[in-house]
Amino acid sequence: MQKPRGLLTFDVEDWEHANFRQLDSADVRASVAESVRERRYAMDRNTDAWIGLLGTAGARSTCFVLGEFAERYPDAVRRLQAAGHEIATHGASHDLIYRMSRTEFREYLRRGIGQVAELTGQAPKGFRAPSWSVDPVRTPWLCEELELQGIQYDSSVFPVKTPLFGERDSPLRPYREGKILRVPVTVLTLAGLRLPFSSGAFFRLAPLAMIRWGLRRAVRLRLPLMVVLHPRELDPAHPRLPLKGWERSVHYARLESTVPKLTSLLGEFRWSGILEELASLERGTRESPSSNSPA
Ligand SMILES: [Zn+2]
Repeated sequence: MQKPRGLLTFDVEDWEHANFRQLDSADVRASVAESVRERRYAMDRNTDAWIGLLGTAGARSTCFVLGEFAERYPDAVRRLQAAGHEIATHGASHDLIYRMSRTEFREYLRRGIGQVAELTGQAPKGFRAPSWSVDPVRTPWLCEELELQGIQYDSSVFPVKTPLFGERDSPLRPYREGKILRVPVTVLTLAGLRLPFSSGAFFRLAPLAMIRWGLRRAVRLRLPLMVVLHPRELDPAHPRLPLKGWERSVHYARLESTVPKLTSLLGEFRWSGILEELASLERGTRESPSSNSPA
């Protein structure tokens, strides 16, 4: 029997790239910036390990590379490209898009695209906003701006409301906004609640059995399967941000569970990047005119 197909994606950024309220303090920002300057830890040191892990399983992925990561670790980006992974953009820096004006975003995107294109020789076709920081109210111009700079798809849709990000009612299936195909992360609906399980902290906190159940249910419902991870989650030894309370828990819970879960899923599904599946994702939008169909 053919393995079900899924989209594997990584937000390729450094260990300090995150957007929590506690990090807004000037003192905290200064201490984190100092740790980064001193290069106490190189985030690219695990790149070959996960290239190997994916290669053994024959899996490809989309790497949404942050411009700052590309500047710090250009070889890591080249190695990811050489291993067959799609290099897309995560923007220039890990700043929240809804805090930018349209003009600021245009420049920010231009820089982010340039930082990866310079290394790969190819303009990225996909975009994902840092911390899913876009929505129809604060960034209604997003897709027009993406289109202007040659982006073909956006993967910044998190269709469930959380205390940090996400939108309650956005579609669960890929949909078009102008020329941009928007591809949401996989979320299931259970007893009227939308349930994230396949990205970042949700992936780490969810038991493997639940992730597997969720992905298989998504297959039955013909929803795209998308997993979202970060290189830091594949290396629990990375330095810690000075977070406290629930923000600390969310950011660091069950890091050690990521690689075993990913390894298991790599064997069970056939993973690829978004760009190579774009045509079939487009067909999915036509087959399901009601993009909010129940899941
Ligand atoms: Zn990010």
